[in-house]
Amino acid sequence: MPEGDAVRRSALALDAALRDRVLVASDFRVPRFATIDLTGQRVVETVAIGKHLLTRTDAGLSIHSHRRMEGKWVTGAADLRTGPYHQIRVVLRTEQTAAIGVRLAMVEVAATARERLWIGHLGPDILADDFDPRMELPSLRPVVDTLLDQKVIAGLGTMWAAEAAFIARASPYANTGNTDLAPALAAIRESMRASVTGRRPAMAVFERVGQPCRVCGSPIRSGRVGTPPHDRITYWCPTCQG
Ligand SMILES: [Zn+2]
Repeated sequence: MPEGDAVRRSALALDAALRDRVLVASDFRVPRFATIDLTGQRVVETVAIGKHLLTRTDAGLSIHSHRRMEGKWVTGAADLRTGPYHQIRVVLRTEQTAAIGVRLAMVEVAATARERLWIGHLGPDILADDFDPRMELPSLRPVVDTLLDQKVIAGLGTMWAAEAAFIARASPYANTGNTDLAPALAAIRESMRASVTGRRPAMAVFERVGQPCRVCGSPIRSGRVGTPPHDRITYWCPTCQG
């Protein structure tokens, strides 16, 4: 699943394609919004909040999209085509450019004033300018479970949550309350900001099962965190995060 940094890159791509341009065609291929037509509206901006994308128009409307596992936005010139056809969820075209949302898990349209319906449940966005790494965290939950909860912190996924626990030298299953996560959150935030501009650091533990820890050489392990069916995979070094 794309994490906050990848979603930011989508927002930048959508801004490059659509910002300050007037839509000459829109096509929502989701039943609830199939009759919506944004033709004639100027796109003001696209912002990322956690893993959510909000594309706003000068008519006071917002398109909410979420990539979830496989979704993506493809942008390009006005004659852009992509597919597969049946997986296209939304098409936005201007005189010069186009953006096509493929396999998006969520596409919704509502008044910009009502965006809270979509994002009101989210915790602070780790990539927001005012994010405070010393924020209070729920104390009794396992570290990685806490970090993955978008209601606690928005934007982290399995990759950055596992890397954060490694930086904190905390087992993914340790109680959050027994761990000082602030320095790790600050470091991960910097890595994510670098990743938005295309500079992703080498991973310490993520998807490195069986490979030697870059610090101590122990083989990296993986396991599940959270409660099924919402459990997720995580990775850790059994020595550094003992
Ligand atoms: Zn290690």
